[in-house]
Parts: sequence; C-alpha cells; structure tokens
Amino acid sequence: MTNNNPQDSLQRFLFDDTDIRGEITTLSATYQDLLANQQYPPQVALLFGEFIAAVSLISTMLKDTGMITIQARGDGPVTTVMAECSQGNKLRGIVRGDFDNLGNISGLHELLGTATLAITIEPEGKERYQGVVALDGENLSQCLEYYFHQSEQLPTKIKLASNADSASGMLIQQLPSSIDAEKSADDWQTLSVLFETLSSVEQLELSHNDQLYRLFHEQQLRLFEPQPMAFSCSCSRQRTESALISIGRDEVVEMSVEQGLIMITCEFCSQQYRFTSRDISELFDPEQPPLH
Ligand SMILES: [Zn+2]
Repeated sequence: MTNNNPQDSLQRFLFDDTDIRGEITTLSATYQDLLANQQYPPQVALLFGEFIAAVSLISTMLKDTGMITIQARGDGPVTTVMAECSQGNKLRGIVRGDFDNLGNISGLHELLGTATLAITIEPEGKERYQGVVALDGENLSQCLEYYFHQSEQLPTKIKLASNADSASGMLIQQLPSSIDAEKSADDWQTLSVLFETLSSVEQLELSHNDQLYRLFHEQQLRLFEPQPMAFSCSCSRQRTESALISIGRDEVVEMSVEQGLIMITCEFCSQQYRFTSRDISELFDPEQPPLH
C-alpha cells in the first residue's frame, strides 16, 4: 500500500555562509494511511504522529540505502512506539500497549511511563548502529536533541507537531565547523532563537516555504526540492515464510493441524498471508511430495 501525495514530503535547507543545515517535513496522507490500519485512541495517534514526523526528519542520517528506526519502550499503558523509514522515503510504524483504560491520559510521559528511546541505523550491507537515551526530556523533540548532543555531538534543534490531520517537523543542525568558531557560535545562537519561535499551529497550517519565511526571512536560505514520503510496508510472503520457519517445524505444523490453515496478519499494514497445511509441509520439506 503506497501513497504518493506530493504534499507528503521532506525538504532539506541550508543557510548560506554558515555550517547550519535543516530539514522540514509534513505528512498528511501518509499519516492517515498509517492510522487507517490501526485503532489508536486520539492521544495515541498524536504521539505516533510525532514519531513518524521525527523519523522522516532524521532519515537523512542514512547516507545510502537501508533503514532507520526510532523506538520508544516504556512501562506505561503504551509499551512501544516504533517508526521506521527505509530507502529514504518509505515510512511505517506501530504503537503497542493497552489502550482500553487510557481515560484522559495523554502526553509522552503519561503514556509511556519510564521509557528509553533507541535510534537504530541499519545501512544495507553494513553494520547496524544503535544509540539509546533515557526518554526523560519534556517532549520527544527534547529527547531527540539530547540524543544528537550525546551520540553525534551535533548541536540540534527539533520541533514536532501533530493533530488529527497531519504531522510535521523541523530540524536545524550545526555540522562540524569549517568556519571561524566565534562566527559559528553566533550563527547558531541567532538561528536557534528564531527557530524557537515556531509554533505547532504554524507547523501544521503553513507550507514549508511559509514556515521558513516566517522564521528566517532575514537569512540567506536555500530550500531544496521536496522528496516525496509515503507509507509503504516491507512485509512480504517470503518474509512471513522466514518468520514461520524461525518459529520451528513442530509448533507451526501443530498450529496448521489445529486450525486447518494459518493466517498471518501484518501488524503494520494488515496484509494477510494465508498458509494451507500443504503450504506448511512444502515450507518445511521442500523436497518431499505434499502430504495430501
Ligand atoms: Zn505489512
């Protein structure tokens, strides 16, 4: 399932004569596609929106093909929030937990309890890298800023916003400096102060151009072409077969005998994969003729 709404995009920007770069993203149809497969209460959907916007923003950390994942795990009613971006523009994600008795509980800490935030970068064919920080900032933006400070040693500012319709994010980051240290510090100070004035309403209602103009119209800024972002699930019959094989022959055969057939539903996109007992015997004994 893929949506190519051109409004769903990630755009890079640069400030001339500085070592500061930025990213801006808005996800509407993609966010709706991700929610359509799930039954999240509104406050869980809002939290999920922030994670999806966040993974879109930081997907440029992946220099080549591969996958980047942001995952929070906690001891609250929400136990896991996971958002993943692969091949630079394919987003998927999931929230797990007990949503039945949430009542008025909302917000990062109330929903997740004591939690950690892991960022995993898996470049294709190369070693995976994972950084973990405690999820103890005021909000997800602050936790991610802390992550960049700790793991990448890069001064970073992030703002995330979500409502029922869309999710949006902006990031500015100072790269290792090749310019005068004093000018570099001044540039960062000036742009950070302007960045902090961006409101959630502006993030959710203004175009990328208008948000950047609102904040930085006195700076020399170059905005690059939008890169389309879309919901796309990486599940497949082959991957589902591998998962069955990893469960083990005895257990899978027992399941197929008890139930007649095995239905596996992808929790990300609700795609169903159906395995008859013949499929199962062929899966475990490809050389053997089918049992019946
Ligand atoms: Zn799927």
